[in-house]
Amino acid sequence: MDNIFSLEGKKGLVVGIANNKSIAYGCAAAMRKQGADLAITYLNDKAEKFVRPIAEELEAKLFLPLDVSVEGQLETVFEAVEKTWGKLDFLLHSIAFAPKEDLHGRIVDCSAAGFALAMDISCHSFIRMSKLAEPLMPDGGSLMTVSYYGGRKVVENYNLMGPVKAALEMSVKYMASELGPKGIRVNAISPGPLKTRAASGIAGFDDLLEQAAKRAPQHQLVDIDDCGAVAAFLAGDGSKTITGTTLFVDAGYHIIG
Ligand code: NAD
Repeated sequence: MDNIFSLEGKKGLVVGIANNKSIAYGCAAAMRKQGADLAITYLNDKAEKFVRPIAEELEAKLFLPLDVSVEGQLETVFEAVEKTWGKLDFLLHSIAFAPKEDLHGRIVDCSAAGFALAMDISCHSFIRMSKLAEPLMPDGGSLMTVSYYGGRKVVENYNLMGPVKAALEMSVKYMASELGPKGIRVNAISPGPLKTRAASGIAGFDDLLEQAAKRAPQHQLVDIDDCGAVAAFLAGDGSKTITGTTLFVDAGYHIIG
């Protein structure tokens, strides 16, 4: 390995940029800085005008719509990737969704439909993406998703997203085991709380930020550049024997409990 941090020549798909506060933006920027060529998606027409300048800034080779709940859109994205590059080296899944009425109530009260939708968009879509990425990674690759500590321990107000992130982290382990023999690695990044659009849907989020800064061993919050550095490392050859794990980017908060 000449340069363990270089992503020169690597092709990556980044899903989850909504704006310049998104974790996926921090990751994509770091990956581009290390030389990766990127395919970037946007949720829908409404989101397009916010994501397009970012795609231009990062010189994205592909810029496509992707709502994982719209049948066929994910397949179209992967067809475009195959047509353009014939392969994929890494993939970042950085999306989550839960209906407000289910997210803001107790798990005990959450609806079957709300639970299924949150699980589908926030977890099963990563499984679907991994399946589509597998044939594009004949020489191995890196699949990444973004989790949160609330999938491990009870965090007030995280509610429905707790079991969803637990399922996501366990899917990471099973898929890492299944795809390991092909050299395809599967990992999650688990950042501490960050003020993003998705986070604004969590009740009492400012308290969560305050607690994180106060209680984390490093007594600080993390930012999207911190997440980006770790994602770029996971995308590259320097992490070629790391798989099936969740890397916490949380100033050490997870060891406090
Ligand atoms: P964000 O709002 O910037 O990103 C969420 C993304 O999910 C958006 O780009 C949105 O378009 C996308 N999305 C939602 N529904 C979708 C669908 N049906 N199809 C395709 N995309 C869809 O917020 P973020 O905080 O950057 O969230 C990214 C990931 O990070 C999420 O998985 C979130 O749970 C996780 N995370 C966030 C924090 C935090 O504190 N912000 C902490 C840990 C983990």
